[in-house]
Amino acid sequence: MGPTHAMSGAAAGLAIGAFLPIGWGGAASATEVFVFAGVTAGAALLPDLDSPQSTLARSFGLVSKSVAHVTEKISKSIYRATMTRKDAPIRNGHRTATHTVWFALLAGAVTAALVTKFGKNSAIGVLFFMLGLAIRGLAPTWTKKQDWAYVTGLSLALAVAVWWALPASAGSAALGAAVTAGVLVHIFGDMITKRGVPLLGGVVSIGGKRWWNFRPPRPLRIRAGAGMDKVLALACTAVTLVLAYCVAAAPHLIGAPWAAVTVI
Ligand SMILES: [Zn+2]
Repeated sequence: MGPTHAMSGAAAGLAIGAFLPIGWGGAASATEVFVFAGVTAGAALLPDLDSPQSTLARSFGLVSKSVAHVTEKISKSIYRATMTRKDAPIRNGHRTATHTVWFALLAGAVTAALVTKFGKNSAIGVLFFMLGLAIRGLAPTWTKKQDWAYVTGLSLALAVAVWWALPASAGSAALGAAVTAGVLVHIFGDMITKRGVPLLGGVVSIGGKRWWNFRPPRPLRIRAGAGMDKVLALACTAVTLVLAYCVAAAPHLIGAPWAAVTVI
């Protein structure tokens, strides 16, 4: 599911970047849209930090694996501490605390706070981490063939280049919003394909359950499986390609205010 999550994050990031008016914090150039989409694509892998088998946990070697184990344990503790008698007991913390709207808001707020407090170094750090995840999520076959250090170096170079080219768009609000959007896209993807997600988990009690699993009505549910996953990934890829083309080469088609990117 990693590549599907990243690709749906990229599609959503492009859509938000392309259609959100500038007055509402929307992008002012094609490059800004691509940076926003890159961060959203990376953030769309974040919730699976609670699963040591996920794309994300395997992305930064032993470090991310250890963080994933700790996150899973913390998520399990949060579930157990807040569950009611009606909530089912769990043995694993996967798809609990990090799959809620609270986590989406928290991840965005922490990102924005970091960038506001520590300025450019933390902005580069956020871009390095998120764009690095996006590369691994969007091109899993390519990254697996490359050396770990090479992919990490590329992510860092990309982060520095982006920050250097676009200091204004690496602002705290835009980065925070892109992270929240990416996490929400992941949660929505899990909601329609898996057994649902505890959207308001731990806080809001529904029918006596504090970890109520939200799922769409039966006809709208997509059965998880290799085939459906591929169809979804393909649809997201198509949307991403069309939007990327419009943003870069034909902004007038989507009513965007910037000029087409010219390749010399
Ligand atoms: Zn997930």
